[in-house]
Amino acid sequence: MAVSAPAGEGLDVLRRQDPQIADVLSGEARRQAETLQLIAAENFTSPAVLAALASPLANKYAEGYPGARHHGGCAYADAAERIAVERATALFGADHANLQPHSGSAAVLAAYAALLRPGDTVLAMGLDQGGHLTHGSPANFSGRWFDFVPYGTDPATGLIDYEQVAALARHHRPKAIVCGSISSPRHPDYALFRAIADEVGAYLIADAAHPIGLVAGGAAPNPVPYADVVCATTHKVLRGPRGGMLLCTAELADRIDRAVFPFTQGGAQMHTIAAKAVALGEASTPAFTGYAHRVVEHARVLAAALSAEGFALTTGGTDTHLITADPAPLGLDGRSARARLAAAGMVLDTCALPHGTGRGIRLGTAAVTTQGMGAPEMAGIAALFTVALRGEREATARARAEVRELTSGFPPYGG
Ligand SMILES: *Cc1c(COP(=O)(O)O)cnc(C)c1O
Repeated sequence: MAVSAPAGEGLDVLRRQDPQIADVLSGEARRQAETLQLIAAENFTSPAVLAALASPLANKYAEGYPGARHHGGCAYADAAERIAVERATALFGADHANLQPHSGSAAVLAAYAALLRPGDTVLAMGLDQGGHLTHGSPANFSGRWFDFVPYGTDPATGLIDYEQVAALARHHRPKAIVCGSISSPRHPDYALFRAIADEVGAYLIADAAHPIGLVAGGAAPNPVPYADVVCATTHKVLRGPRGGMLLCTAELADRIDRAVFPFTQGGAQMHTIAAKAVALGEASTPAFTGYAHRVVEHARVLAAALSAEGFALTTGGTDTHLITADPAPLGLDGRSARARLAAAGMVLDTCALPHGTGRGIRLGTAAVTTQGMGAPEMAGIAALFTVALRGEREATARARAEVRELTSGFPPYGG
């Protein structure tokens, strides 16, 4: 089988002991290899990252921080976390980093816990405009415990309406302003957000869960010089293990650390922190800089090709790894487009459209670029979209066969 490379030996052990779960895992490995992973938040970690995740550090309890743990036997746990923190602060130019958040959402929770009291007012992008659940959804702790005021985008350009942000800030005097989105293909103007926050005495929290990997590769502006706290994930473009990360000023370091442990989390996942260190090491190399720039270039090529195929692109294009598009001109809404593409082996998300009527589609180029695909493949993918979106049985089967052919040339974990 072409996809046994990651944790190959471990999988053999698992197969002998528990064939049922081994089948599930090899089925998923095959699915990832034989379909196109276009979900904007996904990527393929390196075999080295997977090796760290599968290491016995997974067994270690290490509540607290290096040099100040609530458990014995933490020498190697401390070493792993110190290396991860050093690599993160050096890579992003931050005074302080906390690598313990279990996820991007846990990082945002800790940022709020460090800076806010329940009931405080927070200004963030509306969920219908591209804000994340942690930016004030009533179904999330954020909407339940804080008073969120949403800002939006300009209908003409699809870009953040900074005049509205400033006006809302002056009127509501929020304790914090959040910038960052799950679906915007453009970067926030961090300097402008900083100026607005300063004017009203608010903290600026940058939720850079999506673009932090582009920041690492020098392909996106760095929020660290502007934000009091930067929240991030480690598994999106950054290509590390599933998890979160916080970057902050020296002044806020203690508050951020205490907000993670003991306030919102217990023992850190030390194998994941070791894997984060591996990923941060990889992200510090010239090879990753090249990767990050290719990811953006590929998104631009794919966006232009989708536009030519008839999709309406939010903001008219992209500066990131991410594309948000409305398939309405093709006579489809986001949900049926996603289903037809999935039937042809092309996996992506739907998303809210700031100013459209139905839902759109959201996709990204981080994973396909990791696989080694290039600009010609991006143009080919856009053409396959058009075939698959017809929804006819024969066209779908043809697109599915072409996806199989395409992916067979770019196995994510080697042939
Ligand atoms: C992905 C994302 C998160 C949450 O990350 P999880 O690891 O899924 O919890 C938070 N904020 C933004 C803007 C995101 O894109």
